[in-house]
Amino acid sequence: MIERIHCEWSEASPELAMRYPDDVRYHAKHGESLDQCDAWVCVCGNRSHLAGFYPCDRDGNGLEPLASGPWDGRLYYCDACRRIIDQTTGAVVGFRTPDAKDYS
Ligand SMILES: [Zn+2]
Repeated sequence: MIERIHCEWSEASPELAMRYPDDVRYHAKHGESLDQCDAWVCVCGNRSHLAGFYPCDRDGNGLEPLASGPWDGRLYYCDACRRIIDQTTGAVVGFRTPDAKDYS
């Protein structure tokens, strides 16, 4: 079974939806394209405004998004549970290796 992160707005309460209709509409439209979403919720419950998510390589080493190198612009790691996430689908593709370097 493939684990997936999801969009915080997919579970917005009716009250919130009433107050922020534009956000609800935007996030409903991006659907499964999590690379267009800024409100990720990890499988572990982490969110962008909590421990956050950082660009990384296949082993989970933190990378500068614009630096030249192996980053192909797709992978992020969760700084709470070490899951590695493919941002285009939101699918969890692995875990950071024990010696992976943090993003700095
Ligand atoms: Zn997580």
